[in-house]
Amino acid sequence: MDIYAYVSVPATYVWQRWWRQNMPVFAAFAVFLGIFSMIAYWVAQRERSHSRELISQARRDSLTGLPNRMAVEEMLEWCIRMARTMRHQCAVLFVDIDRFKDVNDSYGHDVGDQLLRKVAKVIQGSLRDGNFLSRLGGDEFLVILPACDQETAILISKRLLDAFREPLRVGERQLAVTPSIGVALFPEHGEDIRTLLKHADTAMYEAKRLGRNAFSLYMDQLGERVRHRVQIEQELREAIKRGSFQLAYQPVVDMYSGRLAGGEALIRWVGQDGELIMPEAFIDIAEDSGLICQLGEWVLRSLCSHMAEWRKAVPGLWLAMNVSPRQFRDPAFVAKIEGILQEAGMDATWLVVEITETTAMDDPEASMAIMARLRAMGIRIAIDDFGTGHSSLGYLKRIPADKIKIDKSFVSGIDVNVDDTGIVQTILALSAMLQKAAVAEGIETEAQFNALRDLGCEYAQGYWISKPVTPQEFLSMAARHAALVSCGPGRFYERQVGV
Ligand code: C2E
Ligand code: MG
Ligand code: MG
Repeated sequence: MDIYAYVSVPATYVWQRWWRQNMPVFAAFAVFLGIFSMIAYWVAQRERSHSRELISQARRDSLTGLPNRMAVEEMLEWCIRMARTMRHQCAVLFVDIDRFKDVNDSYGHDVGDQLLRKVAKVIQGSLRDGNFLSRLGGDEFLVILPACDQETAILISKRLLDAFREPLRVGERQLAVTPSIGVALFPEHGEDIRTLLKHADTAMYEAKRLGRNAFSLYMDQLGERVRHRVQIEQELREAIKRGSFQLAYQPVVDMYSGRLAGGEALIRWVGQDGELIMPEAFIDIAEDSGLICQLGEWVLRSLCSHMAEWRKAVPGLWLAMNVSPRQFRDPAFVAKIEGILQEAGMDATWLVVEITETTAMDDPEASMAIMARLRAMGIRIAIDDFGTGHSSLGYLKRIPADKIKIDKSFVSGIDVNVDDTGIVQTILALSAMLQKAAVAEGIETEAQFNALRDLGCEYAQGYWISKPVTPQEFLSMAARHAALVSCGPGRFYERQVGV
């Protein structure tokens, strides 16, 4: 017979026992849960801050730490929305650093980067709270001025130009930096981001055209002009590929013997219909776009091939080529000249390089170093358009130039304007003292010629003697002169009408 005994155990005792047996499992689970949550929280936090950093990096320019193009578009959109709601204007200033490429090319990218950081600080320093500065890339900065009218935008542009009056110190160097600023206003010059930025950019190009270190406010006509320049640049590129250019030579004569001493090569672009396009219509576009370097190479190659033909017939003849600022500052400039001369199998003693006074005196130490390298190759140097720049006498004394070309603006006033006569006299005295030959440019009358000769000028060039002529005409003129014996001061055997 089965005996059953019923023991009454209190429920608490059962729970306690159950708890004692299961508690470690629960505790372990709770600890695990706690640690897991902490890790998950830490990972999530890390991810969040990482992606926040990535987003902010994507909106920052790594060089200057300024907001970049992506951030600018959002800011500008907000500004336009606010301006529309509040019914006021806002402005954008497109700031481009003049000739920044030259700094990069001459001193290297490290110096260029340091300069950009300095520039960012200078611009930031001349803005007010609430103005927004960003770097679009390269040497382009954009300033957004919320709630700003035309007068204030102009005022701030002027303040920015003023801020760059003093050269900037980068390492050991003092670099003279100037900006060109284009201004566009909402809503007058554009009601959306793209149009405003495009028009501010167009206005900036106008500021460059005005001679740089300037600001320009957008006008509708500017768009047309910029389109025209872009078209010319395109056509010029094609023309360079096809070699659609010609050289004209303008004779330079010795004022006392009357004989032809040399010639200045002047480029002409042969247009689609065969018409000749003069340099003033395209040289500055070629300069701005950098195409001038290719054009310069074409000019030198043509000069070499002409000289190779002519030098036997006309011994002692020299030929001059014009070199524009961008070509002159190109770090490969001297090497390119050397290469082209070697390729043609020519020495350099017949070649004269003309650089303007302004180019020579813009960073005179660097200019003198380039000129010294050219001189070492046997090339002679002429300072063109002398009197229109600001030469320092100290530099002029050291400048390794052979000739000084008196600008035609002084020559044209020589027999009518006392000031011009005085200036020409001073330049002639200066060139005699510095032992440089003087060439008077742009002589248009016999009176000017005689006056200059009486003042002691050595060489003459100008329409009165001869307009620029074709290479064939120049050669026959040179050959005739070479065959003639001097017939006394200033007596010319012929005067020519050229191209
Ligand atoms: P530039 O070097 O001062 O050349 C002299 C300019 O004055 C030439 O104009 C010439 O035709 C003009 N000229 C000469 N005699 C007289 C005169 O008696 N009266 C007047 N009114 N003008 C005179 P062009 O050929 O139109 O050239 C203009 C400028 O274009 C040149 O000034 C030079 O700076 C530039 N240029 C010409 N060819 C080249 C080139 O191959 N390369 C570069 N970089 N620049 C060039
Ligand atoms: Mg010249
Ligand atoms: Mg000149």
